[in-house]
Amino acid sequence: MGQNRHATAADIFEAVNSVNPSCSRATAYNALRDLVSAGLVREVSIGGRAAYFEIKGARHHHFICDDCGSVEDVEWRRVRMLSPPRPALRDDKRIVRECEIILRGLCAKCAGRTSRKSFDQSEGG
Ligand SMILES: [Zn+2]
Ligand SMILES: [Zn+2]
Repeated sequence: MGQNRHATAADIFEAVNSVNPSCSRATAYNALRDLVSAGLVREVSIGGRAAYFEIKGARHHHFICDDCGSVEDVEWRRVRMLSPPRPALRDDKRIVRECEIILRGLCAKCAGRTSRKSFDQSEGG
């Protein structure tokens, strides 16, 4: 819990490069793509930002903080689906496998900060 397991392709390339500087960006990205297609790594696309990659584990939703941009995992069972969204794809050839939710708002850290009404500083990171 609390461990940031989400990395962008650029983060991953940086990490690979620090261990093996001779590894090109293309090689690193191709390896990443292979891991995704092998089902070992999952690509999490969150609108507007670069996609995140994470080791495929238990199903979970994501929470994105509007303020600091942190991406947090939300346990599957902690999201109560009052009315599970069902795509109306009767005449669509697509097959929906699952529906993952991206929750947006303020993380606990930022919520604590804004509740004290201190909007005087907006830090960038
Ligand atoms: Zn935050
Ligand atoms: Zn995640």
